[in-house]
Amino acid sequence: MNNQNSMTQKNGPAVRVKSISQIDGRTLGITWTDDKASRFDVVDLRRKCPCASCIDEWTHEQILKPETVQDSVRPMKVDSVGQYALSIQFSDGHKTGIYTFAMLRKLSHLN
Ligand SMILES: [Zn+2]
Repeated sequence: MNNQNSMTQKNGPAVRVKSISQIDGRTLGITWTDDKASRFDVVDLRRKCPCASCIDEWTHEQILKPETVQDSVRPMKVDSVGQYALSIQFSDGHKTGIYTFAMLRKLSHLN
C-alpha cells in the first residue's frame, strides 16, 4: 500500500477494462471498472477496425471492405495498450487495430 507512482486519470477515460472473457466462439465480454458489462461480436469488431489501413485517417472513410472479413475470423490475442485501449490480434493476421475504451463503450452504447 505504498504511494509510489499513483496513476491519475488526467487524460484517459476514468472507466477502464476490469476483465475480459470469452463468452462463446464469437463473443467477447468486457466488464468495466464501473461494473457495467459489454458483449462484442468479434467479427463485427474486426470489420470496425479503426487502424490506418482500414480507415483513412484524413477522410475517415472506411478502406476495409467489411464483406472481405470472413465470419470465421477470431481474436487470437488481446493486449491492453496503456490505460486506454486494447489491441486485438485476429486470426486473419490483422493486428494493427487499437480499440480505445471510448470506442468500445460507444459501440456498446455505454456513456
Ligand atoms: Zn485495421
